[in-house]
Amino acid sequence: MADLKPYNAKRNFTKTTEPIGKKASSKNQKLKFVIQHHLARKDHYDLRLEYQGVYVSFAVPKGPSFNPLDKRLAIHVEDHPLSYGNFEGTIPKGEYGGGTVMLFDKGYYTFPKDTSPNFSKGPVKFTLQGKRLKGSWSLVKMQADNWLLIKEKDEYVKKINIQDYQTSIKTGRTMEEITHPQKNSKINLTNPQKLIFQKEKVTKQAIFQYYNQIKNRIMPFLENRLISTVRAPEGTNGEIFFMKHLNNNSKDIGHKTMKTKSTDKTFYYYFKNINGLLSEVQMNSYEFHIWGCPQNAIQKPDILVFDLDPDEGLSLKKVRAGVRDLKQILDNLKLKSYLKTSGGKGYHIYVPLPMTSWQKCEKISSDIANLMVLNHPEKYTTNMRKEKRKNKIFIDYFRNKLGSTSVCPYSLRLKKKATISCPIFWTELDKIKPDGITIKNFKKRLKKKDPWANFFE
Ligand code: MN
Repeated sequence: MADLKPYNAKRNFTKTTEPIGKKASSKNQKLKFVIQHHLARKDHYDLRLEYQGVYVSFAVPKGPSFNPLDKRLAIHVEDHPLSYGNFEGTIPKGEYGGGTVMLFDKGYYTFPKDTSPNFSKGPVKFTLQGKRLKGSWSLVKMQADNWLLIKEKDEYVKKINIQDYQTSIKTGRTMEEITHPQKNSKINLTNPQKLIFQKEKVTKQAIFQYYNQIKNRIMPFLENRLISTVRAPEGTNGEIFFMKHLNNNSKDIGHKTMKTKSTDKTFYYYFKNINGLLSEVQMNSYEFHIWGCPQNAIQKPDILVFDLDPDEGLSLKKVRAGVRDLKQILDNLKLKSYLKTSGGKGYHIYVPLPMTSWQKCEKISSDIANLMVLNHPEKYTTNMRKEKRKNKIFIDYFRNKLGSTSVCPYSLRLKKKATISCPIFWTELDKIKPDGITIKNFKKRLKKKDPWANFFE
């Protein structure tokens, strides 16, 4: 039976930041599971299956195996509270389980229809729907607390090891990054030689240096604006994490509490200066997206963004003609506009606004986009569905609302070729392809004038 007394008895909650054990009321929802990589006195993985308001827990020394021929020892340990499913961090040395805990996988799981699991006798069969672990598994009891965890044969058998995943499913951090979080702005770059772009041979250090070199151009757009970042702890070939909520203790990063539709309160983050940005690079964030308003004037957007996203295979000539059509409309409206490459297939156009309202911002951007479609329905669409975009350019104006983000000027893109979403002069439209500027060739542009130098004037 579910019992959290042993859990609470083992821990001193004045010393550990683990949650205090309280039984959750069993709602008739989907059952959750979580796997935590726990680097304690002995390295192991903890498998936790929600049942009757607690997590029934097993310590698996070698971790689950994706191979049905492997039988992995799983030691039945004390029940854990459901709040433990969000725990990632360090447990002080000398305390029970002292070491580092990383969220390795989470999701939902099911039992075979019309059965209930017997966690005192076993065997227990279940199907996982996690991000990394999927399919059918079984737990078979041997003696006392010793069980075996076995992958069943199905389409989710994989030829990889559990150790091939080195990062947190929640924060993208490695064990080392969880153990030694950044505390100040003296940025100590770990793993500088790690290849983030394998093919292009771009290292973490090269990206760090890029942002440092470009700081005078990027910071006017990045500083004091709420952001999302894209983390790629193992490079572009590994898992990619879109982060709205940074877990970064740098004093150069500020946060703002905001109510959203889905949550009561959520933290959003902004860089106070270049050190904030560099500390996020240390945390493996390589791409940055910005809100269209300063963090201290959330209701006053000051940037209008149009993203021209062409259908696969549309000629560059047509893409450029589309960019010119949009510029003509903006010129007619006496709106000054700025051009940048997307780093992908299209171009982005930015318009600086005098501080206005989101309502006006949405109205003007949709009017402009819809005018383009009205003039040339065969060329443009504002429908984001792929099948409606055939041979057309999708005019994405949907970023012009509160809480939406767009790729920051000068941000690196985690795409092929290590491209940059780079500001260019209007006169360069025919010379520079949307994916033409990369971290390898941007340097010569630094010697020239900044095409967006007077953007906020
Ligand atoms: Mn453990």
